[in-house]
Amino acid sequence: MIVSRNPYNGQEVASIKEFSKKDIDSALEAANERYQSWKHTSLSERAKLMMAAAKELKKNKQEYAETITLEMGKPITQSIAEVEKCAWVCEYYAENAEQFLAKEMINTDARKSYTSFEPIGIVLAVMPWNYPFWQVFRFAAPALMAGNIGVLKHASNVMQSANNIQKIFERAGFPKACFQNLPIGSKQVEDIIRDPRIKAVTLTGSKPAGSAVASVAAEEIKKSVLELGGSNALVVFKDANIKKTVDICVQARFQNTGQSCIAGKRLLLHDSIAEEFLELFSKKVRELKSGDPMDKETYIGVLAREDLAEDLEKQVEASVKQGAKIHLGGVRNGTYYEPTIITGVTKEMTVFKEETFGPVISVTTFKDEKEAVELVNFSDFGLGVSVFTEDLEFAEKICPEFDDGAVFINELVKSDPRLPFGGTKISGYGRELSIHGIREFVNKKTVYIS
Ligand code: NAP
Repeated sequence: MIVSRNPYNGQEVASIKEFSKKDIDSALEAANERYQSWKHTSLSERAKLMMAAAKELKKNKQEYAETITLEMGKPITQSIAEVEKCAWVCEYYAENAEQFLAKEMINTDARKSYTSFEPIGIVLAVMPWNYPFWQVFRFAAPALMAGNIGVLKHASNVMQSANNIQKIFERAGFPKACFQNLPIGSKQVEDIIRDPRIKAVTLTGSKPAGSAVASVAAEEIKKSVLELGGSNALVVFKDANIKKTVDICVQARFQNTGQSCIAGKRLLLHDSIAEEFLELFSKKVRELKSGDPMDKETYIGVLAREDLAEDLEKQVEASVKQGAKIHLGGVRNGTYYEPTIITGVTKEMTVFKEETFGPVISVTTFKDEKEAVELVNFSDFGLGVSVFTEDLEFAEKICPEFDDGAVFINELVKSDPRLPFGGTKISGYGRELSIHGIREFVNKKTVYIS
């Protein structure tokens, strides 16, 4: 059995029977059979179904959001927002897939030559618990619209949400086995990747998981996309609008109780404004309301599992030993970790070097642009960076200096169906969302008519 427990009170939420090898084989067989017809469906038929999925998400958002909150502790208003965002990505691909997959005519010596974008088959998605719906829908919407079939191995602590996602596609009217949840542990993933019916794999999660999955895919010469961890910097230059920037930085770090790959984990402040900024920032963080994730007023819930809260505690303790100071918070109580600000952080310290997956922000100061860029790029991660300045010309000028997959000026790094999303360095490779996402799992076929 795979059991999910409410991290707020320890109560069991769901207990789901794990698939045996035989169950997995039947699921893959059904998926394979479905692919033979699904790949020939028209884009308008797929779009109609995807729109129905969006409608289903919106209609029953409360029910789906409650399961998310019960399984992983996300405050309920944020769970509802997550479900609504999934409806958006379904609508976005329903409306745009045809254009994204239209043949690209290319002038050559041929009478006619072009690239066509064709489906590849069954894609395995290995997904994390932190946005149990969003991570899956941002893969599934483009994959299904492209004519592929999806099979999901979700994180073990959000299996009821995983089942709900399959139910949403079924309720929307997608033919059976277009999208299936496989209730399995991570040990069964390797065999599934090696199965000839699986054509590619996408994983969102940690580096060790990404590395394990990508190694097997590489051995089988199967395409993989990896969306891994991040340690985004929030860089505040001296001419930034302090009040506005404080609000954005609080949200960037503390939404989803800090459990976001693109959260701003390292706050980099110009020397001259550091004191003023920190004072305002601390005031705002103190005002964040912690409590029962089911309460609409709660902004800070609990971490998804106690071991995750313990890991965070260890990272903070190690950094304090290395010379950092706890400016605010720093106390754990079971799965709850107080919103925490750590100052005096240097680039050798644990909270700077490692990803902190919870409500902890590290503060480091810099003296000039060169040092700021060095600090940002010092990280092994490369998901994104936020730059705060009123000088937009300067901001655009330094964009190319950053190694990251995204630079947001005067805004937190966020995913948006219209924009490509993905990292560099150990944050992974490949892109999701936008035209780039839907073109990851297609055969870009060259057609040449002499
Ligand atoms: P995780 O432990 O890596 O788990 C992610 C998924 O991989 C789960 O389904 C997990 O299954 C599975 N898994 C773990 N080890 C595996 C292995 N050796 N072989 C095959 N599958 C394996 O990550 P998490 O704790 O759920 O999520 C947090 C991490 O995800 C953070 O590092 C975060 O930054 C990253 N993340 C990245 C993005 C992005 O878009 N870049 C978005 C969100 C999260 P089990 O649950 O059964 O172990």
